Amino acid sequence: MLRALDTAPVPAVPYYVPAGNECTLFAHAHRNRLPVLLKGPTGCGKTRFVAHMAAELGLPLFTVSCHDDLAAADLTGRYLLKAGETVWVDGPLTRAVREGGICYLDEVVEARKDVTVVLHPLSDDRRILPLERTGEELAAPDGFMLVVSYNPGYQNLLKALKPSTRQRFVAISFDFLPPERETAVVAAESGLAEGKVRPLVSLAGRLRALKGQDLEEGISTRLLVYCATLIAAGMPAEEAVTATMIEPLTDEPDVRTALAEIARATL
Ligand code: ADP
Repeated sequence: MLRALDTAPVPAVPYYVPAGNECTLFAHAHRNRLPVLLKGPTGCGKTRFVAHMAAELGLPLFTVSCHDDLAAADLTGRYLLKAGETVWVDGPLTRAVREGGICYLDEVVEARKDVTVVLHPLSDDRRILPLERTGEELAAPDGFMLVVSYNPGYQNLLKALKPSTRQRFVAISFDFLPPERETAVVAAESGLAEGKVRPLVSLAGRLRALKGQDLEEGISTRLLVYCATLIAAGMPAEEAVTATMIEPLTDEPDVRTALAEIARATL
């Protein structure tokens, strides 16, 4: 016989602790058929937020992690040879339009320039997706929503989001949660007691304060969850901190030593 644990259903709505009114804002944007841009550092909860909202709104979610080789055809679709026949296969953006779901393009500035050409007619009041290859022009149903994210911290002149693109989106800013909420999130995600998570969160706060001086990017909530997970699994705290909160941040030996000193003083 299966134990209750084996049959426990996967939670339908992914766990998400809001920072402010972002859930309401997102729901309004969806109801009014407006696209949304999420800005914020890596690992602060943007992807989890979209998964949570898709489940709350009962919409299928198509997530694409953009990279510098990602072209428009990767999103719209292409003809493929299948059993000797050429068949059209929809890409994730086309599927989201046909099925009336959310298409989430993570780190959209990384994608190739031709991607913006397919996004523009979908992100203004036309809400259409022209598929040149098949000759179709799909009108997005009410359920469809375009969501993109980017990390302003990584921006450089070549990879900024153009004003003509960003001015089509309702924008929501993300940052790391205030310490008490971040402690609750890290404890919930890792299983480590809040009392043991708290010093890790305060160390993260100190390390984040160094951003821009010695460090390009502050420590993410994701890394904090990794750290707490390793400690919960029995790893000594100091080793876990080194592996998740120091080594991933820098390759410079001097900076590493300085971070280790801060960690020793904080924990
Ligand atoms: P991003 O998309 O901003 O890079 P993620 O959404 O992947 O970041 O977040 C990384 C991890 O941090 C998640 O898998 C989750 O464990 C945790 N997390 C961060 N913020 C939250 C939050 N507000 N609620 C719940 N979990 C969160």
